[in-house]
Amino acid sequence: MSKKVLVLGETRDGVLRNVSFEAIAAAKKVSAGGEVVGVLLGDSVQSLGAEMIQYGADRVVTVEHEKLKQYTSDGYSQGFMAVCEQENPEAIVFGHTALGKDLSPKIASKLAAGLISDVTEIEGEDDDALFIRPIYSGKAFEKVKHKEGLLFITVRPNNIAALEKDESRSGDVTSVDVDVKDLRTIISEVVRKATEGVDMSEAKVVVAGGRGVRSADGFKPLQELADLLGGAIGASRGACDADYCDYSLQIGQTGKVITPDLYIGAGISGAIQHMAGMSNSKVIVAINKDPEAEIFKVADYGIVGDLFEVIPMMIEEVKKL
Ligand code: FAD
Repeated sequence: MSKKVLVLGETRDGVLRNVSFEAIAAAKKVSAGGEVVGVLLGDSVQSLGAEMIQYGADRVVTVEHEKLKQYTSDGYSQGFMAVCEQENPEAIVFGHTALGKDLSPKIASKLAAGLISDVTEIEGEDDDALFIRPIYSGKAFEKVKHKEGLLFITVRPNNIAALEKDESRSGDVTSVDVDVKDLRTIISEVVRKATEGVDMSEAKVVVAGGRGVRSADGFKPLQELADLLGGAIGASRGACDADYCDYSLQIGQTGKVITPDLYIGAGISGAIQHMAGMSNSKVIVAINKDPEAEIFKVADYGIVGDLFEVIPMMIEEVKKL
């Protein structure tokens, strides 16, 4: 049965995040020929509606309010629920991001919807679709079938390919007026952490360093390689604990979960808690001077050697491309 699907468009610094376009692609599958409606919440988001349509949404509904300038679960849930009341959707898709992980349970409980979170693949379409999601820190996958009621899924970034942007597509961008009630939490200031450049959770390439990099300066060649490959820098907790880098770079069970096309890990032993965050990367390259290092067990390509010799060689080769 075809469905009307709402997709939350997630923005950062006034720009739509890639995961929003991946969520639209997932919504297309779920809708089985029904309508895909983008939802934008913020204080000035109207102009972003056209881009959601170019990536496959049929139309877009916005809620603009000064209290939605910064994300709060309180404000966003009021805005999103107003759109739900107007649209009466049969399915909802969010990105499985920090925002999506925070907001989706709140909305799901308000709507009494079953939530299938962290979906990495959708097999089939229509009511027979199977939603595939990793469990036990990526060691196994389960296939979940939706039975009845409102379907609500969150999709892990970098797994479901976005549709090609089609600039000839057009559709309505309308707005809903919402009197956002007083928020219980107010963001007074956002203090940015050291990470600049490509966002690790959406990066196609991640170059990660561990305790083997030995110092903050030891990260410099890794950063150079990441920049050349258009990727992001990441780290093990060992490197963060040793103060070589900021905790915002930590990959793993208690850090970020990433699934880039290419993960390069240098000077990382491959503790189970680290692998929980990167073992589903499409291609894994490990550089370690210990041939017995655990990380080689999950690596597609293993280089036994000193990272301070191997990384500069890689940089030279990439520069030749
Ligand atoms: P090490 O284990 O010390 O490994 C360093 C590696 O570098 C070694 O294999 C060594 O051979 C290699 N090396 C050294 N010099 C060089 C060189 N010059 N060239 C090449 N290789 C070199 N860890 C995470 O990463 N993420 C998490 O989310 C996380 N969560 C945790 C949660 C809990 C509850 C606990 C208990 C632990 C968690 N940990 C996590 C920590 C984890 O158990 C490991 O301690 C940590 O991942 C080790 O970091 P490392 O691989 O950088 O360091």
